[in-house]
Amino acid sequence: MSEKRNPVIVVHGGAGRWHPERSQPGLAGVKKAAKVGFDIINNRGTAVDAVMEAVAVMEDDGSFNAGYGSSLNIEKEVEMEASIMDGKTLQAGAAGLLKDIRNPVRLARIVMENTDHVFVVGKGAEKLAKMFNLERRDPKTELRLKYYEQQKEALLDGKFELPKLSELIKRHIEFFELETVGAVALDKDGNVAAATSTGGFPLKLPGRIGDSPSIGCGTYADNEAGACSTTGVGEVAIRLVLAKTVCNHMGNGKTAQEGVELAVKLINRKMPAIYNHMGLIAVDSHGRIGAAHNSPNMCWAYLTPKTQEPITSLTAEIVKESL
Ligand code: ASP
Repeated sequence: MSEKRNPVIVVHGGAGRWHPERSQPGLAGVKKAAKVGFDIINNRGTAVDAVMEAVAVMEDDGSFNAGYGSSLNIEKEVEMEASIMDGKTLQAGAAGLLKDIRNPVRLARIVMENTDHVFVVGKGAEKLAKMFNLERRDPKTELRLKYYEQQKEALLDGKFELPKLSELIKRHIEFFELETVGAVALDKDGNVAAATSTGGFPLKLPGRIGDSPSIGCGTYADNEAGACSTTGVGEVAIRLVLAKTVCNHMGNGKTAQEGVELAVKLINRKMPAIYNHMGLIAVDSHGRIGAAHNSPNMCWAYLTPKTQEPITSLTAEIVKESL
């Protein structure tokens, strides 16, 4: 049963290594997103509306790897993806392989509310976007094109072969600024929601689908537990079904903070160190927030009636131990 709650929103702009010159725009972006989302739930809007609009703000910002400013794949193309989940109904929607949808999260919501499916990609997703008159925008920015050239040169040393992802990270960790975006919220009616959006891992193979649109991996929400959004190496979050793992902890009585920390400890135990740069945000059904990572940074913000203004940071609880 939903009860009256104080509204809470937590957003992230990605784990990884936030370079000093990019930190201010990142912090300003998550601050704006938290404010937009919070204003919705503070005025009796739903958690689903709040996470969607918060993520849309970050997709429009240009500072993040989502929407405008998405990372490029190995073929210099953008393939965006996003998901959203309503903890009240367990309805969920996701879309992937998107080339020019301005706000992939809005398409994810269209999938959730207007189809019988959870996940639609490629041509079908593009058709759906057309049917619902979603706005288009070329997501490529000068910055990402510059990163692409640098990354490709460094990673491939001029050779056109793609080593395994873990090898890429081991050799060139400095290039893996992840910057995926996500949001979790609890509204006044006690409903939780989560949403996540990304251009995906830089230099990914065409057609690769990551954790961000995968329900249970990058995004999960259940009123009986809470909501979670993840960032980092998508394959790790998929293999550990990370967002659902955090929700299981919260459903079993752990706080949101305990849930995300336990999840990072699990990552540290199960996955080789070089491959495990991850970050998580969560809110539990009591409105307690959680944020933890094992990457150098995670750009994030939260806002509750107590804080009045968004609290922003480039680090949360950095967890290095294993379970
Ligand atoms: N999780 C995203 C992916 O692997 C990357 C990120 O978090 O920035 O697609």
